[in-house]
Amino acid sequence: MFYKVSKADEYLFEGKRKRLVEQLRIKGIKNEKVLSAIEEIPRHLFFDNTTARPALLDHAYSDKALPIGAGQTISHPYTVAFQTEQLQITQGEKVLEIGTGCGYQTAVLLAMGSKVYSIERQKTLFDKTKLFLPQIGYSGAKLIYGDGYKGLPQFAPFDKIIVTAGAPYIPNDLLAQLKIGGVMLIPIGEGETQEMIWLKKTSATSFDKKVLGNFKFVPLLQNKAGVR
Ligand code: SAH
Repeated sequence: MFYKVSKADEYLFEGKRKRLVEQLRIKGIKNEKVLSAIEEIPRHLFFDNTTARPALLDHAYSDKALPIGAGQTISHPYTVAFQTEQLQITQGEKVLEIGTGCGYQTAVLLAMGSKVYSIERQKTLFDKTKLFLPQIGYSGAKLIYGDGYKGLPQFAPFDKIIVTAGAPYIPNDLLAQLKIGGVMLIPIGEGETQEMIWLKKTSATSFDKKVLGNFKFVPLLQNKAGVR
């Protein structure tokens, strides 16, 4: 792998990651590149340092959503693996991520060999992740503090778009910024759970659509938030 693993990544955590990968295989994840990304990325380093307790570290490689600060969570490893697998990323593709959070999904996308653009609306998280990802060897993503509903027209079109927060509807700006032939994964719903929607753009105005089951995300909120 091109990306180096952090020095702080101990042997213990390597074992835990291997077991997590086995669980993900059992749950149906098949893409070897996705699985090896999860096997190499030190998820235990992504938590909110200010509130993290040693107990949290015990759960770093369980299939759980955990706090990352600013009231947000890191997605379940299965959710990250599932969305990434469904994107069917090939080397060098331009991928837009909405909801950078702690940058775990961003690191997975980088490890898949994609050219990553990622938007986060919380300034505190954005600042932290921008510093943190290169520190652990995952540099090269273009991280933007902004409102994901608007996408990034200046860098469009994108081969793939992944939304990592639950949206009330599919934003038109994101549909417009997807390449023809491109795929978007977006969880839709404002209740406790969201339906994972898979969309393929077949022409400037038409899309194939599939519903891929229920997942649980924090909400996709409108507009940028300031420092918290
Ligand atoms: N991809 C992250 C998931 C973080 S949770 C991971 O790997 O852990 C979802 C993130 O989406 C939160 O950080 C939240 O602040 C952010 N978010 C919510 N609404 C947003 C919006 N409109 N634009 C950009 N980011 C948004």
